[in-house]
Amino acid sequence: MKKIGPAGPIFLSTGCRAPRLADGQTLSISISESSERIPSRERPLAQQGVQIISVEPGSLAEEAGIQSGDTLLRIHGEAVLDQLNYQYLITREDEADLVLRRPDGSTFETFVENGGEGIGVDLAQDEVKVCKQNCVFCFVHQMPKGFRQSLYLKDEDIRLSFLYGHFTTLSSSNDAELDRIVRERLSPIHVSVHATDPEARVKVVGNPREGHILRKIDHLLAGGIDVHTQAVVAPGLNDGAIWQQTVADLWSRRQEGRGSVLSLSCVPVGLTDHRENLPAVQAVDPAFARDWVARWTPEVRAYAKANGGEPWLLLADEWFTRAGLEVPGRAFYSRSWAQLENGVGLVRRFLEHSRRFIKTPRAQGFAGRRVLLLTGPSFAPTLSRVATELNRAVGSHLRVVAARNFSFGESVTVAGLLCGEDLKYAAHADRDAKGGRADWVDAVVVPSASLRTHTGPTDQYTLHGVVVREEGTFLDDLTLPQLAANLGVPTVPSGANLSHLLDHLEAADRGAFRGGGLRAAFHAEGLNQPQGAYNP
Ligand code: SF4
Repeated sequence: MKKIGPAGPIFLSTGCRAPRLADGQTLSISISESSERIPSRERPLAQQGVQIISVEPGSLAEEAGIQSGDTLLRIHGEAVLDQLNYQYLITREDEADLVLRRPDGSTFETFVENGGEGIGVDLAQDEVKVCKQNCVFCFVHQMPKGFRQSLYLKDEDIRLSFLYGHFTTLSSSNDAELDRIVRERLSPIHVSVHATDPEARVKVVGNPREGHILRKIDHLLAGGIDVHTQAVVAPGLNDGAIWQQTVADLWSRRQEGRGSVLSLSCVPVGLTDHRENLPAVQAVDPAFARDWVARWTPEVRAYAKANGGEPWLLLADEWFTRAGLEVPGRAFYSRSWAQLENGVGLVRRFLEHSRRFIKTPRAQGFAGRRVLLLTGPSFAPTLSRVATELNRAVGSHLRVVAARNFSFGESVTVAGLLCGEDLKYAAHADRDAKGGRADWVDAVVVPSASLRTHTGPTDQYTLHGVVVREEGTFLDDLTLPQLAANLGVPTVPSGANLSHLLDHLEAADRGAFRGGGLRAAFHAEGLNQPQGAYNP
């Protein structure tokens, strides 16, 4: 399930609808429809196993005669499915029987006494699985034409759900895969439920075979797997009695001990202007959002009380930003900020961090700086308030401008979906409004979530055949250095909070971000990589 991942509140994002794999380098990504359906042991031999791309000198693998180019087929007699499965199998016991295949097709067996550790091999990247749903609000279906091919790929993978908190509808998970989750203890898993009522769920996910999500969830719970759940709420589709039933069904599966539904979040549906030939879906307007907040805020507190004080039912920030309401206080959110990556609590966390930061001596680093902060309309009021507080406290001149999203349509107000051209337009308009001077600001700040940055799932998972752009590239392929050159002033990514932002501005003072890859700039300057950039 693709999503644009929030990377700190500056880049407030939407729930289940957009890409987030995040990361890095130029990658070759490919989607294999066949391999995902067929259990490894039933696949033709040539397709089985995981290829070894390098063997560490002096390692156990080298001693055992393993070479790069070999394919690891079995450990302890069990088929090796992917990197995660390798980790599970190789660390399960103190010694391991291995079966491998040479590039010429011959197979051989070897044995290592590894003490439950890795044996010193790098494995080829795994392929991300393809989603089999057809959700009425799928972000990928709502993409305008003309963007790069990788943005139109729908991924949905339980491995990403376990490793990175991506939500999955479990559409690719048959009983064998659910058993694997249990066997390998891939807990917790993040599941997009949307509705527990089978008929409503079929309507939402557009797949007649995927109505019975509770059966799959129960399979996982019975195996001791914990589950975080979410629903993207679309008016008239899965709100009202259907949502109440969803809440009740999942709450009844919260239990002490092994295998529990740990949380349920609700996120308002996100729609772009590009819904030609798609089913009609009613938007969540400010009035609907206000009603939802009024109806469900007390319920959040009631469920938290019944859950020993720990919030269980969670409302995404977007309910409040769309309603034009202040987000609730810290106690409204889980102690561990559960589902932060799903846009739950980002604004509150940003506000708390900002208020603490402004009181520190470090905040003086902003003194005198004339900075233009670009963000999406959702987050602009919050960011503006914080900028005003900072300006008053340290004498900085931070200004916030809400950039309109011409690329996806103005109904899209989150920062993570702003394209380079949208940001360029907003900066030029601001410069013109301020008299058109070339040095109208000292720096322009763009939301980190709008940039391809950050190490993440694509370090391990690939989608073949599609070239992914360099880090520091916006969704429309404009790069950060190109934008900076066009604007004629240092242009930096925001980071997740004011502290990161100051780090970036100071790095820009030293000439970072002027060219080259963003990863190199972050690495050279020792900066925190922004988290959760878009996918891929
Ligand atoms: S169709 Fe549904 S499950 Fe698949 S990527 Fe789109 S929103 Fe996610």
